[in-house]
Amino acid sequence: MGVTADPNDPRLKRGPDPADSAYREQNDTYLVLSEDERAKGFVRPLRLSYWHEKCGKITTMGRAIAETYARDPHFYGGTYCAHCGHHRPVGENGEFYWCDPDNPERQAPAQQSKVGT
Ligand SMILES: [Zn+2]
Repeated sequence: MGVTADPNDPRLKRGPDPADSAYREQNDTYLVLSEDERAKGFVRPLRLSYWHEKCGKITTMGRAIAETYARDPHFYGGTYCAHCGHHRPVGENGEFYWCDPDNPERQAPAQQSKVGT
């Protein structure tokens, strides 16, 4: 899995997968904010993993994607569940919650906000 800071990169794919579609591998390339933009500072804690409310399983991100969420929480409209093999919505009405930032393996639903908020 690679990342690019170029929104016109032809390898990028966009949009969610239907919830009833077959498992598919993650995309080859994901869009991230540039290193310069990420270096301006985070407005949320740096969190490396989230869990999917539909399956309860945890997915861990690459660092550049995690930093992009921390810099701009609303940057992404969806994210990938490694268990379901789907890209699904994030945000207030999304399907994902952050894991405990101090322990990426721990789900703490009562204490953690939704991904993309
Ligand atoms: Zn899932």
